[in-house]
Amino acid sequence: MRVSVICTGTELLKGTTVNTNLTFVGQQLGEAGIVPFRALVVGDSFADLRQALESAAGDSDLIITTGGLGPTRDDLTRNAVCDFLKLKLHRDLEIEAHLIRRWANRHSTAPDKDYLSQADVPENSIVLKNHVGTAPGLWVKGETEIILLPGPPDELNPMFENEAMPLLKKLVAEANFTSSFMITSISELIVQGKVEPLVKGLPLSLAYCSSVEGVKVFFSGGDENLIVQKAEEAKKLFGDAVLADNKLSLVEEISERLRGLSYTLGTAESCTGGMIAAAITDLPGSSQIFSGSIVSYSNAVKTKLSGVPQEILETHGAVSSECVSAMVSGVAKALDVDAAIAVSGIAGPDGGTDEKPVGLVYIAALLHDKIIVSKHIFPGNRDSIRNRAKIRGLLMLRELLLKK
Ligand code: ATP
Repeated sequence: MRVSVICTGTELLKGTTVNTNLTFVGQQLGEAGIVPFRALVVGDSFADLRQALESAAGDSDLIITTGGLGPTRDDLTRNAVCDFLKLKLHRDLEIEAHLIRRWANRHSTAPDKDYLSQADVPENSIVLKNHVGTAPGLWVKGETEIILLPGPPDELNPMFENEAMPLLKKLVAEANFTSSFMITSISELIVQGKVEPLVKGLPLSLAYCSSVEGVKVFFSGGDENLIVQKAEEAKKLFGDAVLADNKLSLVEEISERLRGLSYTLGTAESCTGGMIAAAITDLPGSSQIFSGSIVSYSNAVKTKLSGVPQEILETHGAVSSECVSAMVSGVAKALDVDAAIAVSGIAGPDGGTDEKPVGLVYIAALLHDKIIVSKHIFPGNRDSIRNRAKIRGLLMLRELLLKK
């Protein structure tokens, strides 16, 4: 499926707003094995938007627009789409009633005309509910499908994920069968090099979605048997690096492994400040496997709560293999858990030295009496270093669980 994304908003072109909607939409589409082939950013101009739609419609099966759905004068997307496709608008009474109710909760006057115009829906379209703001999203059906999403990320994100993506996945599944899996700790280039020779000349398409966790691979095409057979052959090339049960999330797979073994997990986190705990507890049902975390940021807490002996801190420092080993044993004992992860490092931008530069992170993972420790110098800024440390900690725990 050929997908174009059009983001509207002069603020995106001026650089006063970062285009996070494009990132979000791209990531979500990746979950359905779709990689958009084009993205356009257009200012708040009816003519420019109309022209962008026309050019995208020429070679896309689906166009996704973001922004310009609100009631203000610079919100032009719906009208531009209707003008381009020659569609009439009609008032959706359910949306109108919802808008009136929302207005009455906040104002004592009657709602104005522009506000209520958000209830005007083009013919041939499905309404995508907006549970956060006022402007509904729209999915205009036709030869080229067009999904119109609102601009504010807190409205767009849940709408796209919960309202549009299930329909989109269905649409993709009707035309195509997809088999997907994820390979941890690997680059897209290596995956591509190994997988592409397997499928050369065959009637199927491959898509990749790469992140710090690894690479998600999507096989899709009309012949289900061929897709399954080739995806299974490809998985064998990467052995244990492939997440079990075709899972696409590392933390989900690890949680499932812990649950299957009836094991509990705890973390002792310094530079990641609880990020591993947050990732685990993001998943519903995590209380079955997750006991808790000690965010031992200061040396005093490392000693008092994570059980790191004072001599270790004095002799080796807080960012050392000795310290994370003590943290991981300490937290496992304090929380009485089967498995634990500990992290200590220098996330920067300050605090680095020649001996211990920014990016230096020690990580330990424990499973019963086994402990593994690793040292890393992660590249990037503070966010990137912390994120890499979180992922690496989870991968080390997975390594121990695989040996069970
Ligand atoms: P509203 O009712 O708020 O006008 P809308 O659907 O018309 O909603 P816009 O007016 O285009 O949306 O954008 C509203 C706000 O959403 C912008 O000021 C900006 O802060 C944010 N926004 C818009 N587009 C993006 C984007 N691509 N990435 C991140 N934020 C965005």
